[in-house]
Amino acid sequence: MGPEPAHMQTFDEHFEVVVVGAGHAGCEAAMASARMGLKTALYTLNVDLIAQMSCNPAIGGIAKGHLVREVDALGGIMGEITDAVGIQFRLLNTSRGPAVWSPRAQCDKQAYRLKMREVLEAQPNLKIKQAEVSDVILEQPTSDRITGILLRDGRRVSAEAVIITTGTFLNGLIHCGEQQYPAGRSGEPAAVLLGEALKKLGLRGCRLKTGTPPRLDGRSIDWPRFERQPGDIDPTPFSFRTKRVAHHDSQVPCYIAFTTEETHRIIRENVHRSPMYSGQIQSTGPRYCPSIEDKIVKFPEKLTHQLFLEPEGLNTHEIYVNGMSTSLPIDVQLAILKSIPGLESAEMMRPGYAIEYDSIDPTELNRTLETKKIAGLFLAGQINGTSGYEEAACQGLMAGINAALKVKREPALLLDRTEAYTAILIDDLISKGTNEPYRMFTSRAEFRLHLRIDNADRRLTPHGRRVGLISDDAWADFEAKQDRMARLKQLLEKTRVTNSMAEQIAVTETETTTDLSAAVGQSLAQLLKRPEIVIEQLAPILRNVMPEFFERDHPANAASLPLSSEVRNELKSVETEIKYAGYLDQQQRAIDRLKKAEQRRIPDWFDYRAVSGLSREMQEKLGHVVPQTLGQASRIPGVTPAAVSLINVYIEIQARRREQAATL
Ligand code: FAD
Repeated sequence: MGPEPAHMQTFDEHFEVVVVGAGHAGCEAAMASARMGLKTALYTLNVDLIAQMSCNPAIGGIAKGHLVREVDALGGIMGEITDAVGIQFRLLNTSRGPAVWSPRAQCDKQAYRLKMREVLEAQPNLKIKQAEVSDVILEQPTSDRITGILLRDGRRVSAEAVIITTGTFLNGLIHCGEQQYPAGRSGEPAAVLLGEALKKLGLRGCRLKTGTPPRLDGRSIDWPRFERQPGDIDPTPFSFRTKRVAHHDSQVPCYIAFTTEETHRIIRENVHRSPMYSGQIQSTGPRYCPSIEDKIVKFPEKLTHQLFLEPEGLNTHEIYVNGMSTSLPIDVQLAILKSIPGLESAEMMRPGYAIEYDSIDPTELNRTLETKKIAGLFLAGQINGTSGYEEAACQGLMAGINAALKVKREPALLLDRTEAYTAILIDDLISKGTNEPYRMFTSRAEFRLHLRIDNADRRLTPHGRRVGLISDDAWADFEAKQDRMARLKQLLEKTRVTNSMAEQIAVTETETTTDLSAAVGQSLAQLLKRPEIVIEQLAPILRNVMPEFFERDHPANAASLPLSSEVRNELKSVETEIKYAGYLDQQQRAIDRLKKAEQRRIPDWFDYRAVSGLSREMQEKLGHVVPQTLGQASRIPGVTPAAVSLINVYIEIQARRREQAATL
């Protein structure tokens, strides 16, 4: 940009916060900033494709569902939109412990983006603009602070903070067999100018890859030959503010398919034509979401792979073939499809493809997602090396909140790894970076029993309220719910099991009779700690003593109705707190110890060179940064938890040595 100082720079328009890109990160960022009262603009290449789902029109799934709940609890919008347009809902992993239960919804793809656009357009303080952003404008002559953006048509827009959320668009290159062409995703142009402009800023980058499967015309599929997979009878909403999902009674099924020996033969014989194997693609793709050709090559012993046939919407026949991501040539894709029983006559609507794109090394970012080099420039979403709508949304929300707080000159919102998956994602990215598309897993959490979907509101809604994203009504509902659940827990702790209760509990719901005579005199909470007792069995008793808990959404006399999902979820949450109280307390003590250790001060005289076991590089880095606490040390990129525990031990050792030296 021209070397004029900030006060001399001329602009065509002014906003406090500008968001570039209206994907899943950009929509959350723009909404958060506007709802926090800032004059916000959202620039995107095509306003008809706001919140387009580039791949599967599904939200949630294991660990990703946790992220959506967290976005919602903080005041984001992804959960409510999903509840409005989801056409099949399933709560996954219910055969395992509550820490890993996670909601997933198949959405109507078109309805998702229309609903998102409707919500964005209704938001005061937010302007939606279609334009290609080609560069950022920096304060001159220092170039260390952002002052705005440049549009491809030459207009200049000033902003106090800019959030870039351009997904897979930066220098995007699509591959389909031997063909390759620049694109941001199928049918949309790549963002080449902005990609080159960001490189010039000196931010380290890397090149990543992702892929998508072919889509079929549902009318050409022989449906009876596939196993039907229906949604849950009583769907669990994503949002804490949704009472009942819109398509509660009109869900559609998905179907399960399997590859055959013939499928595998076709892939093996043609794998050299896949850009992944011909050397045409060099960059790294998502390991956990391999292409079909990768699955066949890497797991030759597997005789079949499961695929899911999933509807893309209610008003279309388009079907997504989940599990068949590929960049093989179109003729091979067709042959693969026809080798699957039931797809012999399948018509392909769109072929699968792979895409390579530029991302920025997330170790260039602070915990607020602001770049370290350029004040006021924030990055969120796939541009930071992640993969997935949910991973993008939670970053967008945090970047939007922190950009707004910065402009308002208020303290940043920094979440701790022990309180949210969102914090784990950000912490992992900024401290370790990533050399493959990063996705969330529950195994990334150190204290996952604390990070459940049912308590995301308790963990995060107070933060959302503080920054201004939780309305008075939503806050009143939140407080009423916490109060209700606390009273229920107390009631369970103080109510003693009588003979008649024991008889009643023994036979209800499960219809198998257990002898509970020994439980007489115990509290209901103690009884609930037994693995074979579930809280639904106590519902008839609780209904009598705490009717208001059950009758919120039923007529007062409807005591025998099945529990609504809202009531059931609250009951289950209280049950989890009681059943797993021992583990939860144990984890809480570990969290407290960790936090105490994090706050431990590293003395000024501490000598990193005298810590054997620390690499020379680490010694130099720590000596250069001079962190004041162990927590700060742990957040320095490249400083591992093992290094932090070594420093912790050496603080004692070096202190003793100093004492001994002083007494000599
Ligand atoms: P996007 O949703 O990509 O949005 C980017 C936005 O930026 C768009 O609105 C675009 O118009 C805008 N934009 C770009 N450049 C400019 C510019 N210069 N000026 C103005 N606006 C601009 N995720 C999975 O979890 N699993 C998968 O299997 C999977 N497969 C995928 C396959 C493909 C082919 C693609 C493209 C993506 C896939 N994803 C997958 C990733 C998922 O789509 C993304 O993680 C998610 O959409 C990222 O959200 P985002 O907001 O960061 O970016």
